[in-house]
Amino acid sequence: MNLLENQRAADTPTGIYQDLEERLMANIIKHCKDYDQPIASDVWLLRKLAEIGKLNQENIKIIAQTTGLSRTAVERMLYEAAEQAIEEMETAMQRAVKNGWVSGAVPPEKSRNVRQAIATMQEQAKDALNLCNTTMLYKARDAYKQFVHDVALMAQEIENKQEYMNVLNKNAASALLGVESRQQALRKCIKEFNERGIPAFVDKRGRNWTPEAYVNMVMRSTSNTMAAEAQMARADDYGTSLVEVSSHSGARPKCARDQGKIFDRANRSTKYPHWNTSSYGKPDGLLGVNCGHHIYPYVEGVSIRRYFPTEDMDANDKLYKETQMQRALERDVRKQKRECMLYDKLDDEEAFQEAAVKLKSKEARLKEYVDGNPNLHRRKDREQVVGFDKSVSSHAVAANKKAQKELAEKARNDKIISEIKEAGIKGKVELSPKEKIDVSDFAFDDEHINKKRNHKVTREEAEQFIQEADVSVTKWNGRFVNYYGPNGAVFIDTENNNIRTAFREEQYDERTRKMREVLEGDEEN
Ligand SMILES: [Zn+2]
Repeated sequence: MNLLENQRAADTPTGIYQDLEERLMANIIKHCKDYDQPIASDVWLLRKLAEIGKLNQENIKIIAQTTGLSRTAVERMLYEAAEQAIEEMETAMQRAVKNGWVSGAVPPEKSRNVRQAIATMQEQAKDALNLCNTTMLYKARDAYKQFVHDVALMAQEIENKQEYMNVLNKNAASALLGVESRQQALRKCIKEFNERGIPAFVDKRGRNWTPEAYVNMVMRSTSNTMAAEAQMARADDYGTSLVEVSSHSGARPKCARDQGKIFDRANRSTKYPHWNTSSYGKPDGLLGVNCGHHIYPYVEGVSIRRYFPTEDMDANDKLYKETQMQRALERDVRKQKRECMLYDKLDDEEAFQEAAVKLKSKEARLKEYVDGNPNLHRRKDREQVVGFDKSVSSHAVAANKKAQKELAEKARNDKIISEIKEAGIKGKVELSPKEKIDVSDFAFDDEHINKKRNHKVTREEAEQFIQEADVSVTKWNGRFVNYYGPNGAVFIDTENNNIRTAFREEQYDERTRKMREVLEGDEEN
């Protein structure tokens, strides 16, 4: 089994565990949807901690639902690996039988040795996945606990910030304090939650493995071992215990020591090294994870090996490296989709939009890589996320479009504003000001505007100028606001609620004219 075939063999079980991780994460967020109840954050935290038992029961069900799927997938993977490995050697062995080099054997499907080998591997795989299930169950509980603690803690930190209090006292009732701060906290904590995911394995050094990485590793190792065990079972059927190990450059240390040698699997020979002295069985050893070596039944004095199919190792290696790159980009896409899915579950539109923009750029990177390589194809099935369905997907497309439009608009506005500043306008410039000041109860300085300056502008006209204004300039920390439009300008004093002055477009000074040119020049474009 070469590296590419090995990687493909592990795809289905790995995908099932990625789905499982997504389901568990979605369930955790589902439990946090009630953040908007008008209660204090420490009360909310206590409620969330009281739900742990319920969450755990739900998670047990979710895990149980995928157990059947993964068993079936593993079974199929093992049969395919065994079948392919046997097929590779059968022609050569038939020839060896014909030539009298080895004894005849029962057909593979009737071989007890093969059946035994498959059963053993099935048990091993089942144990490994059961361990994943147990790990994911308690890791999901830990992740939930950490998540709600983080949210509550961060919410309280936000609440304690004086500036936040000030803003809120103006805008919202204090009962909403917890809701507002929890929403902000959730938004930040989901990012970290998504980064961490739900580990499926903790190694001896205490490192957490993602379900994707761990199940993939275990399944690749399992299918590789299955292939080797199936071939050895067949060699037993044919009554030969010697195996020859292939050889290639750049082999890793344990393989390098064993490659090119002939071993006795019966561990009895005085002439050949014993199989139990080889590195077979170790993850980083012969026929272990990521091993590109093959074994061939060996008969003294003859070479069966030349009857085995050969393959182009270099081309295989190159394609393998390229698909590994594609897979890394697919993982990025999938993780980002998961973030979108979690924000969608929470109905957080703003955070969803931000996540959707990132998703589109990650998808673009993947597309670019695959399009630039004739040997690769998009594999949408590997980019799918549970809960990221058609409606979430089109929502993400729309959110990204909206964000891109806003970004383009902002870039355009920034450019105009800098040109306006260059024209000599001082103060904070806002284009198409959204919330204009209501001047209906402001004083109108008729004495200054019409008697002293003779601007000939009525109060109604001044209000009209404000309505039409497409730019405002704010000075003195918001005290003075000047509105400029195509027909005239109005200056307001917000501290004294006073319309200070108003004048027509003909009276614009040189700087204001330049500003109008910038604004109107843009409209023409
Ligand atoms: Zn190797």
